[in-house]
Amino acid sequence: MDIKNGFVGSVGNTPLIRLHSFSEETGCEILGKAEFLNPGGSVKDRAALYMIEDAERKGLLKPGGTVVEGTAGNTGIGLAHICNAKGYKCLIIIPDTQSQEKIDTLRTLGAEVRPVPAVPYKDPNNYVRLSGRIAEEMENAIWANQFDNLANRLAHYHTTGPEIWAQTEGKVDAWITSTGTGGTYAGVAMFLKEKNPNIRAVLADPMGSGLYSYVKTGEIHIEGSSITEGIGNSRVTANMEGAPADDAIRIHDQECVEVVYRLLREEGLFLGGSSGINVAASVALAKQMGPGHTIVTILCDSGSRYQSRLFNLDWLAQKGLSPEAIATA
Ligand code: PMP
Repeated sequence: MDIKNGFVGSVGNTPLIRLHSFSEETGCEILGKAEFLNPGGSVKDRAALYMIEDAERKGLLKPGGTVVEGTAGNTGIGLAHICNAKGYKCLIIIPDTQSQEKIDTLRTLGAEVRPVPAVPYKDPNNYVRLSGRIAEEMENAIWANQFDNLANRLAHYHTTGPEIWAQTEGKVDAWITSTGTGGTYAGVAMFLKEKNPNIRAVLADPMGSGLYSYVKTGEIHIEGSSITEGIGNSRVTANMEGAPADDAIRIHDQECVEVVYRLLREEGLFLGGSSGINVAASVALAKQMGPGHTIVTILCDSGSRYQSRLFNLDWLAQKGLSPEAIATA
């Protein structure tokens, strides 16, 4: 019998999907780890589960307690599901720039959601810093602290990385993904490099993030902006610290949008913007490396979370973006 034990037992062990259209275009095997198939709908279910179980093991989270987090959405959704499954309360502090779908989902899941103005990390009222202070002031509450809590990247070191290694039977040449907290990128990169140091670990970054320049030059330098949600960072988190990175590839929103719509039309996969960045960067990496390589990336979450933005043609047009390649004169 192959029966999973509830929500918690259903996290992880996602399929690795060959993206045939992009593979044929490049002559490489471009493989997407289908994290949108986790029970809470995103790659963040793994980190949410590890952070909660780590706090339980350390005796920090007791029955009836509250899990507090500052999150752009997917971590909150994962935490809210696991809190329901394990009998905890969940309080989510979210920047007011995030999609309404994610806020609605969190409230439906029973989390208390407090949208706050989006201000930079250096401001004490930044959503992440605010969530830490709120947790500290509450009785029987923990701050999940996904950016700097190493249980996040350990989730990927212990599960996502080994799954990729087993699913490819070790025949993987490159690992590439974008990062928000860095947990997914770093955990998998560290595991795969231990297995085979010749595997290239490459960071994919949207515009408006400082990590591309950090990998390239060692300095954080931010240029432009992006419509993608949940990825990019203006600092090196504890989860990113020390992660191997051989290179970085930066992707503009227009290219991301074209890839998201190609995933939908050519692969039958309805995915969010970070998956578009990841697959676009995988194609760019395949072109750098040449045919015959196996490249693994992450398909982070479903496009249904972005119906009112990425999949709304009027909204896209207002941003000067189009599902079709825009001809340049
Ligand atoms: N894609 C989406 C849609 C996300 O919400 C996140 C997490 N914020 C990521 C990618 C990046 O994951 P990580 O935090 O592990 O870097």
